[in-house]
Amino acid sequence: MAGKRRLFWQIYPSYLLITLISLVAVTGYASRSTRQLYLEQAALDLEARARICQEQILRYLDPLDARQIDQISKRIGRNASTRITVIHPSGKVVGDSNEDPATMDNHADRSEFIDALNGNRGTSIRHSRTLKKDLMYVAVPVKRGERVDAVIRASVPIGAVDETISAIRTRIMFGGLVIAVFAAILGLFVSRRITRPIQQIRSWAESIARGEFQYKPSITASEEIQALSISLDQMAEELRERIETVVRQHNEIESVLSSMAEGVMALDMEERLINMNEAASRMLGAHLSHIQGRSIQEVVRSTHLHQFVANTLASRKPTEKDIPMSVDGEVIVNCRGTLLRDAGGKQIGVLIVLNDVTRLRRLENIRREFAANVSHELKTPITAIKGFVETLRDGAVKNPSDADRFLAIIDKHVGRLEAIVEDLLSLSRIEQSAEKGEIERIDSRISDILQTAVQVCHIRADAKQIRIEVSCPVEMRASVDPPLLEQAVVNLLDNAINYSEEGKRVQVEASQGDHEVLISVHDQGCGIEKRHLRRLFERFYRVDKARSRQLGGTGLGLAIAKHIVQAHAGRLTVESTPGKGSIFSIHLPINRGDNASA
Ligand code: ADP
Repeated sequence: MAGKRRLFWQIYPSYLLITLISLVAVTGYASRSTRQLYLEQAALDLEARARICQEQILRYLDPLDARQIDQISKRIGRNASTRITVIHPSGKVVGDSNEDPATMDNHADRSEFIDALNGNRGTSIRHSRTLKKDLMYVAVPVKRGERVDAVIRASVPIGAVDETISAIRTRIMFGGLVIAVFAAILGLFVSRRITRPIQQIRSWAESIARGEFQYKPSITASEEIQALSISLDQMAEELRERIETVVRQHNEIESVLSSMAEGVMALDMEERLINMNEAASRMLGAHLSHIQGRSIQEVVRSTHLHQFVANTLASRKPTEKDIPMSVDGEVIVNCRGTLLRDAGGKQIGVLIVLNDVTRLRRLENIRREFAANVSHELKTPITAIKGFVETLRDGAVKNPSDADRFLAIIDKHVGRLEAIVEDLLSLSRIEQSAEKGEIERIDSRISDILQTAVQVCHIRADAKQIRIEVSCPVEMRASVDPPLLEQAVVNLLDNAINYSEEGKRVQVEASQGDHEVLISVHDQGCGIEKRHLRRLFERFYRVDKARSRQLGGTGLGLAIAKHIVQAHAGRLTVESTPGKGSIFSIHLPINRGDNASA
């Protein structure tokens, strides 16, 4: 609004100026008209006085008796307080009420005299050098028939007229001034009446612009302003509805985006973020409050993602890529980029949809590795069996001692194959039962399960003079599947015996905490280096492959134990010190309704 004057200051001064001009014009015209009227009146008066003289001087004109005429002039002039001058048609003054005619100029050139000589009334206003005043002269002809014998001129000073006129003008001006003051006050009121509703409408429009729709002034004004206020009201209503629609749509989009498991982010052509949902910020480790308008490079520290965004923008077609999101490459995010277009079809940025596929990729890897491992594990004994069968066929069968030896080796490999297949079958049975929730959990005494497991293993333990000690409260119970839990403990005991030196001790302990039942198997064996612990429970993972095979291990024992414990909603953990021994622990949560007691 800089440089623009307020409407009030545009209306009010113009109004004042018009009032003042009118006042000056009226005053000027009135005083002029009044002066005219006065002078006309004075001229008529002087004419009447001149005509009074007419009769009296007529008889002294032929023959001319200048002395008489002069006396008559002086008398009438004195009585009428008017200067009377009688002028001969030649211009010579023959009588004058105030002066001696002999001393006076010839008046032949006076305009009023010339008019009178022509038979009309002559009027003139001019400065008299004789009297040093402004005078009004009125001259009338004195006729005998058609002949003008003399001109009688009456004159008065018009100073009095001017004074009267000036007094009248002063009064008019004073009156005008009073009217002007009233007009100014009235103008102020009228201007305010015009500008106030406009001011109200302006404040109203400003409040609409701020989104305050509840404010609505009552405006009483002219038809035009009323129409404007109705239009503004309609506009505000439409605007409110549109804003409500936009806000509702925005909220809908926001809630859809925030409830999505997929991460979504929109970027403009300069790679600045327009929007990002919670899932995306979680996956990318960005803070939602600081993203709007900032570049992707500032918000996310992943050169792979920066490159992907740049490629999508440059290629102008949908793109897809798996991107590692953590330094160790553990977290994999699948990114799909599509172009964002405005209503006119112009590209305004890109939309990136992010999917955390870490689990999926890991499962794919596990499946791939598993297939490779199974093939590998089966191939070794099969190759050996095939080789010895061929050797036997080639003639070794005829040598009884060789034949026995080779058949024993074939038997060992068949046993190995059987063990692997059995372990694989039981693993898949446990997985399937756990998935279907078919594990049969019954309230069981834990010490019974542990004792059975120890009995299963005691021949192998005795063979290595390994003592197995069990420490378990007799009355301790938990809701478990007894054969499965027994198998898990047997697997742990088997390992403890296999990886311990002869004559060592293995302890099986069971205890109950507030939230879980803990069964742990301690051994004094070779222990496991820390770097192996993370992958120890994977299928076919072995620390020392040759030793495991030699001991008849399948590499599936711990995987089976883990799945059994998981089927009971528990955890299998390991602590180990190389050279000193290991502790494998089964943690079984105590569910409500379990009747476990020490
Ligand atoms: P395996 O049939 O080879 O024993 P497991 O799945 O039972 O297969 O064990 C995997 C690997 O973990 C073993 O090959 C062995 O290297 C290691 N391991 C398991 N238990 C122990 C233990 N008590 N002490 C030392 N190493 C162990």
